[in-house]
Amino acid sequence: MALRLVILGRQGSGKGTQCARLVDHYGCIHISTGDMLRAAREEGTELGRTAGEIMDRGDLVPDDVMIGIVGERLAKADIMENGVLLDGFPRTPDQADALEDILEDQGFRLDVAVNLDVPVDEVMTRMLARGREDDTPEAIERRLSLYEEQTEPLIDWFEGHGLLEVVDGLGTEDEVFARVRVVVDERLAYGY
Ligand code: AMP
Repeated sequence: MALRLVILGRQGSGKGTQCARLVDHYGCIHISTGDMLRAAREEGTELGRTAGEIMDRGDLVPDDVMIGIVGERLAKADIMENGVLLDGFPRTPDQADALEDILEDQGFRLDVAVNLDVPVDEVMTRMLARGREDDTPEAIERRLSLYEEQTEPLIDWFEGHGLLEVVDGLGTEDEVFARVRVVVDERLAYGY
């Protein structure tokens, strides 16, 4: 059965790695709206130029723009057949409402939203260990608190819709993936 799931996680939570594992295991198509916007920026499209400025400010691209982009992508045959792993979308409750409508029109629904939970202290340590120039403690803290601010209403939305699964993101990649699989498989089996 084709899986339709959302993954959430702070920067440094290991989300990228778990996305690769999920795609590999369930055969769904990975959609990262951040990657899509960065690609548009590289190509120098109008969307890319507008989005680029917004991204640089750390703001969110307007909901109607994002919903349009994702709606178009979700209608493609590969996703209709194989399901989707949404990464970076939805970002707001309005995007989540729109996603629900889009899937419903297609005769589908979201199976689950997995929140990869790694404590702030730990992601701070991981990000500092990467040693990137833009990874000063202040910059990391700013990005993390922005993430928190933007994501909290979304977590509430998923919880309110009975879709949220919080997965402990501490441990090895294998350990974390085993936990993710348990919650996803349960959702697929029971559809609650
Ligand atoms: P990400 O790689 O997911 O962190 O996305 C990078 C940037 O792209 C974000 O900081 C936003 O400016 C923008 N972006 C990505 N996805 C969305 C979305 N679903 N809604 C609004 N803005 C987004």
